[in-house]
Amino acid sequence: MASKLFDLTGRVGLVTGGNGGIGLGMARGMAEAGAAIMVAGRNTEKNAAAVSELRALGVDADSVVVDVADAASCEAMVAKTKDRFGRIDCLVNNAGTAIRKQPQDYSLAEWQEVLTTNLTSAFVCSQAVYPVMKAQGGGKIVMIGSMMSIFGASFSAPYSSSKGGIVQLAKSLASSWAKDNIQVNTVLPGWIDTALTIKAREQVDGLHQRVLDRTPAGRWGKPEDHAGIAVFLAGSGSDFVTGTSIPVDGGFSVHI
Ligand code: NDP
Repeated sequence: MASKLFDLTGRVGLVTGGNGGIGLGMARGMAEAGAAIMVAGRNTEKNAAAVSELRALGVDADSVVVDVADAASCEAMVAKTKDRFGRIDCLVNNAGTAIRKQPQDYSLAEWQEVLTTNLTSAFVCSQAVYPVMKAQGGGKIVMIGSMMSIFGASFSAPYSSSKGGIVQLAKSLASSWAKDNIQVNTVLPGWIDTALTIKAREQVDGLHQRVLDRTPAGRWGKPEDHAGIAVFLAGSGSDFVTGTSIPVDGGFSVHI
């Protein structure tokens, strides 16, 4: 008999940036485990394509347009998800962006764009979902950090700051909301082949080979490498796991 620990039947996942890359990889994993999914992103074509793909897995899925840099838009996203599905069991704060420059070259507006999109949005969305999860007796919040939550890089001052901050945000929310049966954890992806890193490989000389050389698994990660961790962190198998950070990196962070 299959374990109930990884069965998400009857649960609802809300994934920001769920229309592509790592977010869609996690949404697919949760859908394959039986969860209904709300895909949240700015691009309506990508949203629609992701919804079709998820419905083809046999689950209910829908999409909502959100700009996570806008607090009112995040609050509306949560309200629409609750209206559409009646509950929200797992919020994945995945939407993110990067601007790669040397630290001295950023404008304040660029710094704020990265911090607002990657860090403030996770706080705002988590705050908005809290009363829903509390009222239904619990829930799961998954943050997406990065190797830049651990390491710095010459081209990533605002990005690293946002991804370091998100780990601390998760610990604080986890500490406060454990009493409400809400678990908050962070996934730390390694270098993953997505639209975000296609740009990184164009902008940072030698990055592709450096990642291959440094990663014990000997390859870049794929969005689908995040399906399993999503199922674990969204399901009852992780009910006593909270405030922690889990690398999904092919060994990148444990190897010099
Ligand atoms: P993608 O560029 O493929 O995905 C980014 C997603 O974020 C898109 O779905 C995009 O949706 C959404 N998004 C961006 N800005 C906003 C916004 N303002 N409002 C709503 N949605 C937004 O990149 P990844 O899949 O690689 O990145 C996903 C997450 O993983 C990010 O947090 C990133 O920092 C993190 N990460 C990625 C790594 C990698 O190697 N790829 C490594 C470590 C962390 P839309 O197109 O509709 O705007």
